[in-house]
Amino acid sequence: MAIEKLLIANRGEIALRIHRAAHEMGIKTVAVHSTADADAMHVRLADEAICIGPPAAKDSYLNIPAIISAAEISGADAIHPGYGFLSENARFAEIVEAHNIIFIGPKPEHIRTMGDKVAAKQTAGALGLPLVPGSDGAISDPDEAARIADAIGYPVIIKAASGGGGRGMKVCQSADELPSLMRQAGAEAKAAFGDDTVYVEKYLGNPRHIEFQIFGDGKGNAIHLGERDCSLQRRHQKVLEEAPSPVISADERARMGGIVAKAMADMGYRGAGTIEFLWENGEFYFIEMNTRLQVEHPVTEMITGMDLVREQIRIAEGKPLSVAQEDLRFTGHAIECRLNAEDPVSFAPSPGLVKAYHPAGGMHVRVDSGLYAGYRIPPYYDSMIAKLIVYGRTREGCLMRLRRALEEMVIDGVKTTVPLHQALLRDEDVINGNYTIKWLEEWLERQNGAD
Ligand code: ADP
Repeated sequence: MAIEKLLIANRGEIALRIHRAAHEMGIKTVAVHSTADADAMHVRLADEAICIGPPAAKDSYLNIPAIISAAEISGADAIHPGYGFLSENARFAEIVEAHNIIFIGPKPEHIRTMGDKVAAKQTAGALGLPLVPGSDGAISDPDEAARIADAIGYPVIIKAASGGGGRGMKVCQSADELPSLMRQAGAEAKAAFGDDTVYVEKYLGNPRHIEFQIFGDGKGNAIHLGERDCSLQRRHQKVLEEAPSPVISADERARMGGIVAKAMADMGYRGAGTIEFLWENGEFYFIEMNTRLQVEHPVTEMITGMDLVREQIRIAEGKPLSVAQEDLRFTGHAIECRLNAEDPVSFAPSPGLVKAYHPAGGMHVRVDSGLYAGYRIPPYYDSMIAKLIVYGRTREGCLMRLRRALEEMVIDGVKTTVPLHQALLRDEDVINGNYTIKWLEEWLERQNGAD
């Protein structure tokens, strides 16, 4: 069914990103927003805008009845959830579909399975994806945990089945720590996610984070769009992402991408998804699947020439995948810097009035952002205010262009992480692609120590 009017159940740069794809396809858009976002750029550009509640996300962007009412009132025939908020809420997807509205995302049962990390790991294993060695399922008995930990070897990591955003994880170095850390992890998971289920897996010492972008048509066909390297992380949050990964060869991409795409085809997966792996000594280990669009999707767009939001919308309309695997080409290199309204040293949030704004431009430079001069960044939400994405024919060319683009960015009135990215891009290890998920934290400690 052709979508005519799309409700965007999100805010910020991703709401604008979705609006743009929709308008290019001739689809009208409905923005829903909290009172704090009445002046947001996507609200201004959308064909219709409906206020759905006060600033707190639980009363607005997570308010399912208000969002469904907005869709009914505006006559929207589809809802795009973006990332975060309700994007991985299986119940929301079910409610949307029960109202005869198209949910732009996977089948609700797949969101549910992959949202539970224990079920996700079991499913991934059954589909032939390589796993981090560990418990086969949830674990509550410390003696059983100790037996598994002995078998796989310390250190191990205790993870919450319902975990997310890098929370609910405990690294355990030895058997005597295990019972107390399990209790702590369970209690923290209960408090944060309302579910104390935990599981145990081997803690990899120094891996990279490498994830594959996939698309399925929901009818047994799936493709992969290559990998992204998201190893530069602070507190398990991605800071800078690149595609392709500096350590993955074309053969390895085709091999692993093929395994991932086949798994998604066998599952009957629908829409966009990301399979996340840790990678160490040439081996991939599945950690989780995200059943939605990712923040870092533009780097994949840059090297494939595909519009991922457009592809999501087409699949939701019941159309076939727009490209066959053998016709997909990976060309050049792309890097994304997440620009946050934060102090670049202390990372304290820095919301407030943007006095002047000049995004970088020029060849192969893209800025995804809802900023404008006079905009007031509200204090209630995520601090990411812009994504700077740069393409180059080679990685080296991409790095040079990125340095030039960062120099041009003007965001006056608030502190931003632009200087952090500038410093990172001067570092030999980053220049050489020689980093793991631990690298940035260690680098930050060295920087602070040097002050
Ligand atoms: P979340 O859903 O909370 O983001 P993930 O399972 O994706 O949790 O893990 C987040 C990050 O935690 C990974 O990118 C990696 O940095 C670290 N991590 C997770 N599992 C392991 C592991 N087995 N060994 C080492 N680090 C891990």
